[in-house]
Amino acid sequence: MKFGSYISEQFDDIRILRYQVPAFEHLTLKEKILVYYLSRVASAGRDILWDQNNEFNLELRRILERILKEYMGDRECDEFRHFVVYAKKVFFANGVHHHYSMDKFAPQFSAAYFRSLTEAVGQPEAFERLERIMFDPAFMAKRVVLDGDKDLVAASANNYYQGVTQEEVERFYAAKERDAECPVSVGLNSTLVKRGGNVEEEVWKTGGKYGDCIENIVFWLEKAKEYACNEQQRKAICLLIEYYRTGDLGLFDEFSIEWLKEKEGKVDFINGFIEVYGDPLGFKGSWEAVVQIVDEEGCKRTSRLAENALWFEEHAPVDARFKRTEVSGVTARVMQVAYLGGDCYPATPIGINLPNAEWIRERYGSKSVTFDNITYAYHMASLNSGVTDEFAYSDGEKERIRKYGYLAGNVHTDLHECLGHGSGKMLPGVTTEVLKNYYSTLEEARADLFALYYMLDPKLEELGILPCVEAGMCEYDSYIRNGLLVQLTRIKPGDKLEEAHMRNRQLIARWAYEQGQTDRVIEKVAENGKTYFVIRDYRALRALFGKLLAEVQRIKSEGDYEAARQLIEGYGVEVDEALHREVLERYGKLNVPPYAGFINPEYRLVKENERIADVTVEYPDNYLQQMLEQ
Ligand code: ZN
Repeated sequence: MKFGSYISEQFDDIRILRYQVPAFEHLTLKEKILVYYLSRVASAGRDILWDQNNEFNLELRRILERILKEYMGDRECDEFRHFVVYAKKVFFANGVHHHYSMDKFAPQFSAAYFRSLTEAVGQPEAFERLERIMFDPAFMAKRVVLDGDKDLVAASANNYYQGVTQEEVERFYAAKERDAECPVSVGLNSTLVKRGGNVEEEVWKTGGKYGDCIENIVFWLEKAKEYACNEQQRKAICLLIEYYRTGDLGLFDEFSIEWLKEKEGKVDFINGFIEVYGDPLGFKGSWEAVVQIVDEEGCKRTSRLAENALWFEEHAPVDARFKRTEVSGVTARVMQVAYLGGDCYPATPIGINLPNAEWIRERYGSKSVTFDNITYAYHMASLNSGVTDEFAYSDGEKERIRKYGYLAGNVHTDLHECLGHGSGKMLPGVTTEVLKNYYSTLEEARADLFALYYMLDPKLEELGILPCVEAGMCEYDSYIRNGLLVQLTRIKPGDKLEEAHMRNRQLIARWAYEQGQTDRVIEKVAENGKTYFVIRDYRALRALFGKLLAEVQRIKSEGDYEAARQLIEGYGVEVDEALHREVLERYGKLNVPPYAGFINPEYRLVKENERIADVTVEYPDNYLQQMLEQ
């Protein structure tokens, strides 16, 4: 197994990282073959996503690829360099719009130059067709527009709707019959088009729209099926194949339920038209795929927590009226990503909780996975980025991060996901809806505080989850540093905090800082024009976290909207402008791009006399080459 650095390269606002899959080496040959076939499935749907994102994307990609491969002119000049960066950005975003901001990319080279490139590779007509999408900033400017006073369908540049207005779309789906008990996700797998005055769906299935790609997906799924980890997984794959063949959304729900029940196999996958963020109306699923392998060590941690869930509930510093007397249904698994595809590649989530259909979640639960090797790669890359060194105060703090930062961060996530969200109960007759727009932030704060409170509990050492109290202290350092300083790098000057997780982190950190001021629990230190927050008393900070947890749990259990509003508006929204400016300036000097994505490993079958004798894994380091070779 060859592996160099975790960081491959960076361009514009993007960093390209690599991840390792150590768990692959411990699989049986049969499981390795399954990983191989599922990785083929995961790359088979790539073109679907490109076309979903914008109607010009595939043609744009083809000409970019052709120029990169064939252009024989000057490849050292500035304009060609700009062209290469543009191509890398388009590959990264699976299209002409930024993957996160959704804004269209603006080329740093002229239209005339691009015309000369297309002519040099014998494709001048490509220039005619692509000039507007590439060089007219006003044309299809944003992939997803959420701005309420516009026709969201007309204003968004995605390719899910053709010739229909927002009103027509809404009317079309409102009229669809849905089972009251088991409602299918209407519209999830089709393009809605207007033809001859009629609004109709072009369903994504074999023989339908995207038929060639889907046939390819099915081809590899058929192979994968023969190597399924168990009967349950085989059953799930068969249903997925049937769904791709028929486009029947009821079959997708059936697949999801069977997929959900499969919890024993070493290898698992995510596959289909899943998330709806790419559609402002939330109907259409973008195609995505992940192949993942169980991380035995990580799962030991989560199962130990799950087994002791009741102990944690009983010892939480909250009012007994708000506690559960039994705790069940904890099924989070720690996995290693083996391959990423579609909307999960190259930019990827660090954890996924599926399925999305609410009725299935209520009746059958959900599968929650965290991707340990992805967070590890982020951690390794961050050690070298200089961010920690810039914002951590003492050498002791920095040393602790190197030693325990990765483990402590993961244990915090485990406590947050496995126990925190599942803890506590509502008083009879109270629902979470009364907390309205403050619910998400409050709930994230509750889960974080539950985790923070226990990070310093000797129980974690006793269970063999943390090696020593210093590991817990390391998480306290990181949390305060992030909540009060580092996370401000994600927003622009003058902006307030909007995102729920960011609000909750600042709320907790700032509340603890202010409440502990008289006892100097956390000290604000200014040195050489730089601000630091330094924890002076970890025990006292733990007590403060416990106190806030009790209050946040009370607010949730009683549905105390006014208290939620005051807490969040008071501590979680407003940004200290001078400090924000300072943080941005310090961060800017480090030259660390804010977004990251990953190069995939490559798997190969080794055959002996037509028999598969082995599957090898390699870790390529050339981003552009991987993009061009798919
Ligand atoms: Zn959460």
